Amino acid sequence: MKDAFTDNTIRFIDLRGTGFSPADKNWQVKIHDAMLGVLQDMKCLELKEPVLLKPHIGEPKGATFIIPQTSTAVMEFLGAKKIKRTVCGDSTVAYSGERGYKENPHNDCARYLKLAAQRGWDAKGPLGTPFIILDRPATSTKGIYEFTGEEVFLKGDFGRYREIRGAGGYQAAGSIINIAHMTLHPVAHFACAIKNIAMGGASYKGKLQMHQHYLPGIDEGKCLQCGECSAHCPAQALKWEAGDYPKLDEKSCIGCGECLSVCNEQGQAITMETARIADWMRGEDTMQNRLMDYAAGLIGNRWSNLLNIAHLYNITRNCDCFDIVQKPIVNDIGILIGMNPFAIDFYARYLISNEMWKTKNKKELTYDEFKKGPNLLKQYFKDDAGTAPYEYLKKQYGIQYEADEIKTHLCKTAASGQ
Ligand code: SF4
Ligand code: SF4
Repeated sequence: MKDAFTDNTIRFIDLRGTGFSPADKNWQVKIHDAMLGVLQDMKCLELKEPVLLKPHIGEPKGATFIIPQTSTAVMEFLGAKKIKRTVCGDSTVAYSGERGYKENPHNDCARYLKLAAQRGWDAKGPLGTPFIILDRPATSTKGIYEFTGEEVFLKGDFGRYREIRGAGGYQAAGSIINIAHMTLHPVAHFACAIKNIAMGGASYKGKLQMHQHYLPGIDEGKCLQCGECSAHCPAQALKWEAGDYPKLDEKSCIGCGECLSVCNEQGQAITMETARIADWMRGEDTMQNRLMDYAAGLIGNRWSNLLNIAHLYNITRNCDCFDIVQKPIVNDIGILIGMNPFAIDFYARYLISNEMWKTKNKKELTYDEFKKGPNLLKQYFKDDAGTAPYEYLKKQYGIQYEADEIKTHLCKTAASGQ
């Protein structure tokens, strides 16, 4: 896969020190106008119907998630481009709660849809578009956005994976408006545009695969003791000796499914199982790499059809999946807009690092200083890999993770009364 971004510029709506508040109606107008100006400047974006707006709608007790009032410019922009078939949508989550996979079975997604409506992400909300659940075909909207399968299997060389699992509704999108909220995250450490694609666009089993909650089970009744699975395992997690069955080392297994793939040509003795692990921190050290693999894979050939809008305010220690009230850990920063989600995240990492640096040292961290280190996220996650996953991305996929240019749009006017 080669670098596919014809527009590798990041537009930065700089809200630092402005007193910005997303809930303030005056600010909503200012953000609308600033964002619309930026979108009209994006000449390389190719819009194909149907268009999916992919936010994270938060959990019931949360308060720092992104609200739809800050995306009205997107709808005006799409309307001006004569785009008619649009939806907002997100997938179910692997943990329990209003958006849970188990709590929203195929024939009853009431809990998730109710939360989306309460948050204004449905047809009655400020964007006026229906809300669908990307791995629940029953929620697709006839004539607007239709898909039939919970998940779609994508085969290819996706780093650690030969096969990844996208949510059916994510793969049905002609274009994607990836509306991300930057937060820190207990397992991934950093969550923004990449994670919103990788986790948000994956099916339930895809999420388990990224979390390494997806392990091979070996049926000794079918196993031919051929050792192929062991030979192909990229993590040396299957120990095998001639004349014996392979033995799994669960701690080493990354859940990639490669053993299943080779075994299918042999004894069909492997099935991937999901129920045995309850450790959410599993694979914390390499989670960012798996998110890269999934994001690159799920985008597929839609590089020119992807727009990323990353909201860098109300930045919390944990992600919006936490069903609690959280306090921001750094000052609000602004909004990044661009076609390259990897460059967005890399620059967002710089901007949050700068805020942490300023708090401690009372001066700015330059971009060059950021690239050389130190890794300021280590104060929250001692094993954070810093920029190494971006190097992995570049090596594996040839994708550039630094923007060619940052265009800054100042938005300095105080909100109320002006
Ligand atoms: S590839 Fe399949 S049949 Fe061969 S040893 Fe592994 S589990 Fe058994
Ligand atoms: S899923 Fe199979 S191939 Fe992949 S790491 Fe685990 S044991 Fe190895």
